Order: sequence, then C-alpha cells, then structure tokens
Amino acid sequence: MRKVVKRTYKFRLFPSKRVAGRMERVLGACRFLYNVELEYEKQVYFSDRNFVDKNTLNNLIPGWKCVNPGLGRVHSQVLQNVSDRLDKSFKSFFRRVKNGKKAGFPRFKSKERYDSFTFPQSGFKLEKQKLKLSKVGMLNIKLHRKIRGEIKTLTVKKCPTGKWFACFSVVEEKLSKKSELGKGVGIDVGLNSFYADSEGNKIVNPRWLRKSEGRLKFLQRRLSRKVRANKNWEKSKLEIAYLHEKIVNQRNDFLHKQSRKLADNYSFIAVEKLFIKNMVKNRYLSKSISDAGWRRFLQFLSYKVEETGGQIVEVDAKGTSQYCICGNKVNKSLAVRIHKCNKCGLELDRDVMSAIIIKALALKKNTVGTAGINACGDVPLGTSMKQECTSKIRSPYTSIS
Ligand SMILES: [Zn+2]
Repeated sequence: MRKVVKRTYKFRLFPSKRVAGRMERVLGACRFLYNVELEYEKQVYFSDRNFVDKNTLNNLIPGWKCVNPGLGRVHSQVLQNVSDRLDKSFKSFFRRVKNGKKAGFPRFKSKERYDSFTFPQSGFKLEKQKLKLSKVGMLNIKLHRKIRGEIKTLTVKKCPTGKWFACFSVVEEKLSKKSELGKGVGIDVGLNSFYADSEGNKIVNPRWLRKSEGRLKFLQRRLSRKVRANKNWEKSKLEIAYLHEKIVNQRNDFLHKQSRKLADNYSFIAVEKLFIKNMVKNRYLSKSISDAGWRRFLQFLSYKVEETGGQIVEVDAKGTSQYCICGNKVNKSLAVRIHKCNKCGLELDRDVMSAIIIKALALKKNTVGTAGINACGDVPLGTSMKQECTSKIRSPYTSIS
C-alpha cells in the first residue's frame, strides 16, 4: 500500500546584507498587503457579516500596487499566498463563531507578528548550497540534510534573533510496511516525569523552561524599565529573543531524542488521548504540560513511527490512574505517587501503572476493535492482562516500599 507522508525541512539561510534587505522589504510588502486586505474584510464583515474569498482579494491586488509600489517588487504567488493566509484566518474565525466558541477577530499584524512569506509553488530554486529566490536573489543555505520527496512550498522565515530560515514542505510517497504487532509499549504522560512507560522506565521531565524562567523574568523586568525603541531597549529585546530560541532548541532536541528512542525500539506504541486544550486551562498543570511539549512530542513520534512502519494507538485513558490492572478500583489523589492494590497486592509507581493500563487498553482496542472500549472506567482488565503486562517490568519498580 502506498501512502503520502508530509514533512517540513528547515534550513538556516545566510543572506548577504543586500539580499537580507530585500527579504525585509518583501516581508514589509506582504505585511502591508495583509493589513489592507484585513481592513477590506473588516468593512465587508461589518456591513454584511460576511467575508470575501481569496480570489476576490487576489483580484484587488493590482489596485493596491498603485498605493504601494513595493508590492510590484514581490513575486506574484507570494502575494497571493498572503490572501490565502487571511482567507484561512477568516474561515477559522467563522468556524469558531459557528461553534459558539470565543472568537477573536483576525488581528492586524505588527512587524513582530508578521515574520514569514511563502512561495506556494514556484519562484525558488535550490542549487547545491545556494537558494535562488525570485525577485530577491541568490543566498547561501546550509543544507545539513538531504531532502527526500517532492518539494511543494517554501516559506522564508525571520526569527526574532534576526536569523533567517527556509522551511520546505515536502511530500513523499512511501510504501507503507505495516508489520504485524511487534514489541509494544504503553506511555503515560507524567507531571513529575516527562513520561513513564509500561516497562517501568521513567523519563525525567526537562525543566529548562522553568530554570530559564527566572532569567527570563529578570530580563523582561529590565526591558520594561527601558525606553521603548531606544538602543538599549533593542539590545535587551534581542537578549530575550536569544534566550527563547535557546529554550526552544533544547526542548526540540530532547523531544527528538526521546521519540527516536521509542520509534526505534517499539513497533506498537500506546498513548493516552490527551485533551490538551482543557488541560492548559488548568493553570497549575499548564506550565508543566507546555514545558514538556507533549503535543509536539506526539508529532515527532508519529512521523518517526511512520518511517519505521510501526503504529501509535491512542486510547481514551480517562480515569486510568484510579484502576489496577486486575480491574480493581484503587482511589488515589494526585499526591499519592504509589499504586497499591489491596485485591491482588500489586505495588507500583502510579505512572507506570497507568502506562500498563494504557498499553492493555490499546491492545484490547486493536483486537476487539474500537466498539468494545469506551472509558477505561468501565473496562475491568482482568488477570490475564495483568500477567501479560506486568511480567516484563524491571524489578526496581515492582516493589516500592
Ligand atoms: Zn490489583
């Protein structure tokens, strides 16, 4: 069976001063276009509660070129992509309105918030370590890895630290080799640990963000005392941007390594279906969750697993922490870190216990089909599951006292 895999490759760009200046101007022109199109949409919205689609916007571009000649110096498809972006944000705005959610109206973009432009089809060319952009010029690119598949779009992005990046979105057709159920593992997202797996391993939660937070707070306080837009203010701001960038890089590095490890070692990975939106609302939990970047982790994991031909099974694991693998209910508050079943006598770290149940649920889901399972709460797992799932656990966790 063939299937299509989408992926993004990101490479650092090294433009000369002149070329960088031109890219700045392209960004400026795109931002200008975005904001005038938004203004136009706004008028349409307030007069008849509707919006015009991207084709209508595209037809208006020549008129706006007369107002801002800078638009003429930008590749036409890059401009059309601006309409595309606005179109998307309006569509999702109307979707939110329809769903009765709190719908923020699309916003005008400041210089800081508009940081990229996109070539949706053509206008760029890769040659060895060079990238040619239409109406911009030739620039150096560091291709630190080979691109596999067909390049569809190119987005050029400027980071707050002033670094430029090229992001290629690529489509690759692959033979999917769905292997039979191989070695499996269950994963439970922890707050104390990044995750615990069903074999008794715990991966420690990286808390760089928190560590750096003190420093960040300090820098931000210092920034607030400075006069806006003066030289010292700019300097302070750049320092903050660098710190942010460092945190993001460290976090991604950690997530890549962890997901690689799982993908290489297991062909069947059971995870808890997370409702991150709800969880982030809870302000006590939210720090740790965004800290750990769980959603991003799943993204990384799923494409790596796709490559290795394994599979990820998501299960609704609501209430898993309140059950034992034998089916017995074991109530415990968040403070209780050790699972202790008074029916079968099992004693385990609570997160490891959850991971085991998640794996069991996923195995059951795979064999019974989805119909058999709802919330874990109604699914006593039984002793056979217990034997199968706890037999492989490393000893240190089997008897915590
Ligand atoms: Zn039990």
